[in-house]
This record gives sequence, structure tokens and C-alpha cells, in this order.
Amino acid sequence: MSAPGPGGPFGALTAFGVARLPRIVFGAGRISELPALAAGHGTRVLLVTGGHSFRDGPAWAPLVAGLEAAGLTWDQLAVAGEPSPDLVDGAVADRRRDPPDVVVGIGGGAALDAAKAIAGLLRSGTSVLDHLEGVGRSLPYPGPATPFIAVPTTAGTGSEATKNAVISGRLPGAGADDPPFKKSFRDDRLVASVALLDPDLLAGCPPAVIAGDGMDALTQLLESFTSTGASPFTDAVARSGLAAIGGALPAWHAAALAGVSAPETATARAATAWAALCSGIALANAGLGAVHGLVAPLGARFGIHHGTGCGALVAAVTRTNLAALAERAPGSRALDRYAEAGCLLAGDPGSTGDALTDAAARQALPSALDRLAAELQIPRLATYGVTADAFPALVAESRGSSMRTNPVVLTDDEIRAILAASR
Ligand SMILES: [Zn+2]
Repeated sequence: MSAPGPGGPFGALTAFGVARLPRIVFGAGRISELPALAAGHGTRVLLVTGGHSFRDGPAWAPLVAGLEAAGLTWDQLAVAGEPSPDLVDGAVADRRRDPPDVVVGIGGGAALDAAKAIAGLLRSGTSVLDHLEGVGRSLPYPGPATPFIAVPTTAGTGSEATKNAVISGRLPGAGADDPPFKKSFRDDRLVASVALLDPDLLAGCPPAVIAGDGMDALTQLLESFTSTGASPFTDAVARSGLAAIGGALPAWHAAALAGVSAPETATARAATAWAALCSGIALANAGLGAVHGLVAPLGARFGIHHGTGCGALVAAVTRTNLAALAERAPGSRALDRYAEAGCLLAGDPGSTGDALTDAAARQALPSALDRLAAELQIPRLATYGVTADAFPALVAESRGSSMRTNPVVLTDDEIRAILAASR
């Protein structure tokens, strides 16, 4: 790594802000504190869970007993798959007359996003379709939101720390030729009041979920670290996450594939959960890049899981960004950040005598990402039926908010080449 300048590792400290964060409760076993945290907001709780996995797991019975012991009444909504406008609006309509005091989302990113959107709309009663970015009526969100507690049971999306909920669906009256959308409902008031991260809840994660969500976290760390919106704050958070995830994610995935018992994966689970939280905090403050620009239309058109799509794209996007930066912005700070990310992911802090040089670290990064995706058994885009015919539409639909903070403006040809290399 190159020697630090007068600003040390921070470079020149420029103006920046830190967006609203949830109160963070992190640690194994801390799910036991959820009833008391919920009781801080009232007595009626809506629990939004994903599918059935949490209800079938060991934490469900103690949670229910804890809620009842705390004098709370609760009802439950199970969300299978990514939230649609109908699901969100229907859940709100069903509860408007007797609304909960607090919404608790327990699950993966889809369950947390559903809970976040429902909590956001219970009081306003407006449709989620009114407030989506880039689709529908784009009306201002009036608020206020019902208090929301986020409890992730996977490590990846960082939704517990962000102000947006991703909604997937079609506009009312859309014709068969109109593409489905995947867009954000975004507002500062949607940020969870509490993010409770208990790595014990991750013990039952299947290997494919560990891989997909883990690659989402890694991509979010890398994209926020190299984003044009990065700040000294997001750099510090992203550095910590990158240093944690490089070793922990493949170790946890390999252990899960081998059926290793939960106590032996505790360290890797906690490190990956931390990295995922860092990724959410970093992306909420820095923005993302071309991987996230492309994965939204890929998810909408081909049903590709968000994190799996990130894993399929991240090496090619990194390779293309590096080449475009070298050609068109050779003084960009993103080149330094890519070099640093390569060292951090490789477990090399750059402070030892045989540290990788910047150029070597940059060159090694895309190949390391390719190897990691292969090790984690991330399918390629062709597995989902993505063909070259779809490239023009995908390129056109990739220019959303994430693409705007990519470290370099990519040409349509470069984006097409990323898709071709990731097929
Ligand atoms: Zn993501």
C-alpha cells in the first residue's frame, strides 16, 4: 500500500454527514431482549416473518413466551418471497382500524423490507405504489412511520440499517409487455428504531442463503467503499466490514456445506453479521454502484435472487471499473480504494513488509472475486435464462440511482460486456 499522505489514511477530510441510524443491539443470545425492546413502544406488536423458517426454529417458542410474559399482544404475518405492492397495501388495510404500536420484522431482507414498508404506511394509509422511486406517481411520503424493530436472520442485505424497502411487482393496468419493476420506497423515517443482530439466529442458514446474502454484503461494502458518495465515515465502516467478511464468509459457507455444528461456526457467523451491518450503514450513506444498478432489472425480469445476482456480477463489474478508471480517471480515489479492498479481503492489512503493492492488489481483486463466487457456488446469469437478447433492455434499465454513484460513468458497451462476461 502507498504511504499515507498528510491526512493519514483518511486523505483530505471534506464535508460529509451521517444519516440516521437505528439503535444497534448486537450479540449472541440477545434475541431474549426483543420483548422488552418492543414493550418500549406499546403493547400491540405485529410480527412480520419470512416464510416459516423462523417459526419452525428454536427461537420461536421462547420469543412467544417472552412477548406474553411482557404483557404484549401480537399477530403475525408470514411473507414468502419479495414484497409486492399488493402484499404491503393489503397488510396495511387489514390493520388500519386496530393498528399495532410496533412492527417487528424477523427474517431475511425480503421480510425486513416488507415490515419496513408496512410500518411506514400504517399511519398514512397511502399505497406503497404512490411513493416508489422511478415508477408510479412518486408522491411525497407524508409519514409518520410506526416504530419498527429489525431482526435479521440472514447476514447480507443490511436492510436493518437502511431507509429503503425494495418492492417488486407490476403497476396496476400494466400490459403483458410492460416489464415488472423492482424499486425502492425510501425515506429517513423508515429507518428502524432498533436493529437487533443475534448471530445465533443465523445458525440454521442454508449454504445457498449464506452465499447469496454474503455476496450481497461483500458487494455493498465494495461498492460503497469505491462510490463517488463515499466519506471518511463510510470508508471506516466499509473497511471494518471488508476486513471481517473476506475470511468469515467462505469459512462459514464451507462449514455449513460440511454440516459442521453451530457452536463451531459462531465466530464466522458473528463476523459475517457484523460485515452485513457495516454494508447497510455504508450503503445508506455512500450509495452503491454498477452491480446494484444491474441486479435490480435482472431481478425484476428474471427472478434472480438479489445477492446471488450480485455474486454473479461483482467480479466483471470490478474488472470493468478498474479498466475504465485507469483509462479515463487515473487519479481517482476509487483506484486506491480498490487496492485497499483487495488487501483487506485477502486478510492483508498492507502494513507488513511483504504487503501487496497497490497495482498487484488491484490486479488480484477481480480474480479473487471470481474464485470466491465459484467457491460459494454462485450460479452464472445464464442459469436463469439471461440471453444476449435481453442485454439492451437490461442496459437501459440499469441506469437507476445505484449506477449514479459508480466510481466511473460506464458506457452502454461496457455494461453489455459486463453482462456477457457474467453469463
Ligand atoms: Zn444489495
